[in-house]
Amino acid sequence: MTRLPHPSVGGAFDSPVAPGSGWPGDLATARTPLAQSADDVGRLAVGARDLAQLDARVSVCRACPRLVTWREQVATTRRRAYADEPYWGRPVAGFGDPAAPIVVLGLAPAAHGGNRTGRVFTGDRSGDWIFAALHRAGLANQPTSTDTADGLELAGVRVIAPVRCAPPGNAPTPAERDACAPWVDREIALLPRVRVVVALGGFAWDAGLALARRAGWPVPRPRPRFGHGAEAELGSVTMLGCFHVSQQNTFTGRLTEAMLDAVLARARVFANS
Ligand code: SF4
Repeated sequence: MTRLPHPSVGGAFDSPVAPGSGWPGDLATARTPLAQSADDVGRLAVGARDLAQLDARVSVCRACPRLVTWREQVATTRRRAYADEPYWGRPVAGFGDPAAPIVVLGLAPAAHGGNRTGRVFTGDRSGDWIFAALHRAGLANQPTSTDTADGLELAGVRVIAPVRCAPPGNAPTPAERDACAPWVDREIALLPRVRVVVALGGFAWDAGLALARRAGWPVPRPRPRFGHGAEAELGSVTMLGCFHVSQQNTFTGRLTEAMLDAVLARARVFANS
C-alpha cells in the first residue's frame, strides 16, 4: 500500500494510520495496549488514569471484528475524492475541553469523515454544521474543521461519539454499542465538570440515558422520550435532545441553524448554572 501525505502536515502515512507514526493528534504508540474483546475494553477503560491515556487506548481498540474490518476496508479502498489522502481507519476518540461542562454526544464516526481524518465529526458535512454552531455559540475558536492539524480548539465543550468506529450504514449492532460503552463511561468519569449533555439524535439520547444509569445518575420514570428540544434531568446533569446534524436533517430543513443554536444556547444556560 502506498504511503500518502497528511493533507496539512505532509509526511507519509499508511492507511490505516500506524499508532505512533506522527499523525497529528495521535496519542497512541506501538506500545499502547490493544483491546481485543469487550472484556478488554472494560478493563482498559476503567484502568485509564486520564483522558490522554483513555484516548490513546480508544484509538487502537479492536474489540468489534465487524467494525474493524469495515473501518480498515474503507481506509484501504478510500473514496475517489480523497484518493490522495491517507485514511485514519482507527477508532475516533472524544475531542475537546477536558474541563468541559457541556458534552455533545453523536452516534459514530462517518466512514469518510472521522474515519478518514481521525477526529470526531471532522471532514464531513455533519461536522461543518456542528463546529460552525459551536463557533457561533462561543465554544469553538473557528467555524471549520477539516483535519487534525487545522487549529480547531473547543472551550467548554467535548464532542464524543458513543460508538467509536465507523459502522456500515451508520448502524452499529446492539452488541457493538454495548462493547464500546465502557469507553464513554470512563470518559464521562474523567470529565468532572459535566453539567449538560446534548444528544444529537435518538441513538445518542438512548446512549445518554444508558450511561446515566450505569453512572448511577437518577433517570426519571417514565423514561424521557427523545425529541428536538426535549430535556431530561439526570441529577446534576441535564440532557438536551437535538435532531442530528446529518445531511438528511440539514438538507431537508428538519434541523435549521436557528434550531441548533437554540439548543446550544440552552446548554450554555445549564453549563453556567
Ligand atoms: Fe472498540 Fe468501540 Fe470500535 Fe468496538 S466500536 S472496536 S469497542 S472502539
